Amino acid sequence: MIGVNKWYGAYHALRDVNLTVTAGERIVVCGPSGSGKSTLIRCVNRLEAHESGSIVVEGVELTDDLRHIHEVRREVGMVFQHFNLFPHLTILENCTLAPIHVLKMEPRDAAAVAMHYLGKVHISDQAEKHPGQLSGGQQQRAAIARALCMNPKIMLFDEPTSALDPEMVKEVLETMVQLAREGMTMVCVTHEMGFARQVADRVIFMDAGAIVEINRPEDFFSAPRHPRARQFLGEIL
Ligand code: ATP
Ligand code: MG
Repeated sequence: MIGVNKWYGAYHALRDVNLTVTAGERIVVCGPSGSGKSTLIRCVNRLEAHESGSIVVEGVELTDDLRHIHEVRREVGMVFQHFNLFPHLTILENCTLAPIHVLKMEPRDAAAVAMHYLGKVHISDQAEKHPGQLSGGQQQRAAIARALCMNPKIMLFDEPTSALDPEMVKEVLETMVQLAREGMTMVCVTHEMGFARQVADRVIFMDAGAIVEINRPEDFFSAPRHPRARQFLGEIL
């Protein structure tokens, strides 16, 4: 994305954001509350529209053109803080819905793919349950499996562990680390600094809608360049 600006009414939520993510790269985005982290990643699959600048995902520029928006959304998986599973569908149905309706997969094939990914996140045994019957950690792993069923080229995570009890954070982070090891391109908004140290190629620090620091994790944690980043790390570490 180049020179991206976004406003919510009069509020300038993204300020001249420039960011290029290459295939296989793992990016961790952090920064204070309200700094624009969610807005940034929501713009990548057009859950929010930007007002100026350009966002190109896998060679497709995001504009008002719905065909392009759908094309990009097919390539981009997203995992939210609050799972956003469909409560009235089983875990398996959550995972097969988009592959059947968007990718036009045969239900049987979609189910096979879903069971493969549910196995990878270690919840095959939960496939027939509804989201409300699962723990938070299991629901989030189901949400990750659901995103993977679309065979995305990029995975976006928006604070995937911040709604979880501490003992469930680990299982979700392990799933994310495994995904990173397999070479998935990932942009993760998270304050899990252990995760950032372990897998991030670059850490991005946002403040007041702007990217104010991009650094390698080892340098970001030991010697952040921006004063706001120093203050932020002082508060959370
Ligand atoms: P947090 O760490 O709390 O999740 P964030 O860095 O993800 O924060 P955003 O959610 O991107 O921040 O919000 C950036 C700013 O834009 C905030 O000041 C927020 O109040 C504002 N904002 C976000 N969404 C909207 C909206 N739909 N309408 C108006 N203002 C919004
Ligand atoms: Mg947010």
